[in-house]
Amino acid sequence: MVHIVGKGGANYVLALDNDKDFLYRVCIRGRSLRENNLSTVNNYHYALEVVKPHLEQFMCGMVLVEVPLSDSLLQALNGKVELWDAPAVTCLKIPNMVPAGSISYTVDHFTKVHIGDGTVVWEFKPKWLSGNGKYCRNCTLNLLRGRTSLSYCYAQLLDPTQAGPILDSVFAEIDVPQPFIEDMEAYITKPCSVLQRLRAAQEQVDVGLEPLGQSDTSASPDQCLSMTLKDVTCFVSWRKDAPPVAVVVDLDMKPASKCTYWAALQQKLDSFRPQVHHITAPPPRPGN
Ligand SMILES: [Zn+2]
Repeated sequence: MVHIVGKGGANYVLALDNDKDFLYRVCIRGRSLRENNLSTVNNYHYALEVVKPHLEQFMCGMVLVEVPLSDSLLQALNGKVELWDAPAVTCLKIPNMVPAGSISYTVDHFTKVHIGDGTVVWEFKPKWLSGNGKYCRNCTLNLLRGRTSLSYCYAQLLDPTQAGPILDSVFAEIDVPQPFIEDMEAYITKPCSVLQRLRAAQEQVDVGLEPLGQSDTSASPDQCLSMTLKDVTCFVSWRKDAPPVAVVVDLDMKPASKCTYWAALQQKLDSFRPQVHHITAPPPRPGN
């Protein structure tokens, strides 16, 4: 049997009954199965050749596999795929970061927590960590979209003086072990943490970036990469007395045609009031 365990605008994440250790990510953007299969192949190469050099060891392992069409696979993709013009579905096979038997909690739009036997898996979308000295893009967009109940921001979590209170706030409603919070506070502010790596990657790409123009109709490859790095999902797996293990997923290439949408949103944010500013400490020096 095939189960849908995640739905995004462009992808489904599927689980197969006989394979609990892996998940299967399929593209559902197009009507034609062959077209979607090709997008999955392109995303695979993009992740490995373009994104991986920026994420180094945090890159999620992935392989391309062909899963033959079955009744339950047809049923899972029905309503998305309309043209069954290929004999198999091309999938990105990725490790399942959530141990079998875990209980999952959705904290909000950006955060989920999966609690298993002695393990906590923290799943989160950090979004924009590269500030370029302007307002906080995450918090200002939350206000623009009416998400006023959020009490934290992942860009602020980069500040070692704020990490403790922010983690307390993220996990306030969930019964996680206290050592988990303490270990995450110690981990997340280290230069070697996944969040710090992601910030460095975003800043590295953004430093040479031309601003999006209102009249541009196609984004540059670096503008697309910048958007990919700001839309990833991180998984940090914790077990008491063991170092945390982190991986980054959702590394698809963004369509260059989204340029006009990105530019319009940027303009809206630039003129939106109030804009949110954080006073952040400088990043920790390597070796600390
Ligand atoms: Zn913020």
